[in-house]
Amino acid sequence: MDTPEKEKTAKELTPTEAINVIIQEAFLAGASDIHIEPLKDKVRIRFRINGDIIDTQTISTEKASLIFNSLKVMANLPYQTSELPEDGHFSADFLNSENKYENVDIRLSVFPTINGSAVVLRILNRAEILLSMKDLGMSNDDLIKLKRLSMRGYGMILINGPVGSGKTTTMYSIILELSQHDNKKNIITLEDPIEYNFEFIRQSQIKSEIGFTFAEGMKAILRQDPDVIMIGEIRDPETAAYAVGAALSGRSVFSTIHANSAIGTLARLVDLKIERGLICYVLNGTIAQRLVKKICPACKQDDTPPLEFIHMLGLENERVNYKKGAGCPKCKNTGFIGRTGIFEILEFNDEIRSAIIEKNPISEIISIARKSGFKTLLEDAVNKIREGETTVEEVIKIVL
Ligand SMILES: [Zn+2]
Repeated sequence: MDTPEKEKTAKELTPTEAINVIIQEAFLAGASDIHIEPLKDKVRIRFRINGDIIDTQTISTEKASLIFNSLKVMANLPYQTSELPEDGHFSADFLNSENKYENVDIRLSVFPTINGSAVVLRILNRAEILLSMKDLGMSNDDLIKLKRLSMRGYGMILINGPVGSGKTTTMYSIILELSQHDNKKNIITLEDPIEYNFEFIRQSQIKSEIGFTFAEGMKAILRQDPDVIMIGEIRDPETAAYAVGAALSGRSVFSTIHANSAIGTLARLVDLKIERGLICYVLNGTIAQRLVKKICPACKQDDTPPLEFIHMLGLENERVNYKKGAGCPKCKNTGFIGRTGIFEILEFNDEIRSAIIEKNPISEIISIARKSGFKTLLEDAVNKIREGETTVEEVIKIVL
């Protein structure tokens, strides 16, 4: 989209106007991040939309440096050039798809590279990040499990998945559900970053640079008489210990953790020095999740995926009505519109707890879980192929 016309418009705008035009365009396109990347003799601007990075335009190094300086002013960063990574934030009003102004928080991260400062603007406070549980893309069985897990009133739920897999949206859907159904609860969050501002919830932004870490936050939160605590991420033994302590004392705790599967979370907790028996005692359940792109309904058509791919998914003995998007103006010729979640939910019961304590192999824990409807991420994703919601290629890319 590097048209001469765009180049001309960019020249006439002041740096602040140019930033606003870029952010407005990204916001309307549904981008989560804007990347401003210095190359050898020009600067490339790219948007991350639905998980993929898309080129939008390139600008001259001179223009980019004016834009960069204005961004620093907007985010209250020191004006002088720094050799160190920096981050800041600002907010401004942008038009949404309904042509109404929406206040948008932008988090700015500056990273020094050999070609100059690379900037990533993360667009926060988007209405899309807030979904009710029923809109997450869960099967009915999983939806019932998630509701049951989150309404339990005590204990811990841990969610895992790579960056950008929708974990925050799942946690926010739990908060939304709890705050709608029970306003007698005191809900407090520790987040980094806060991606959506709830009206009636106390949300707190982690500031590691001044010593306000997840662990420090947990220590303080327990003195705030909480019923429900959401922790952005558990990544160190101290935070893990506080979180387990809070769950043991009758609070509901939910958080994300770095692991590859619902069961992988157990090994991660052992890594974080939580004793096996304690894990079984406090955990209500673990959830693994990913996001897959949804086929555009306007150009959906039959698909004949390569046999090799069908074998990879174990679908060779099944008749499946495969679908794909042909590409149309509505989906900007990508064949996809939006994304949906795929899930693996391990709900703990006594049988699973004793299997874990007895250090039974994972395969055995899975077969016990299957008795109450457990399915793996891949099985959930394959269901989405059967339902014509996503493509074989997308599932192979995201889940395998
Ligand atoms: Zn389409």
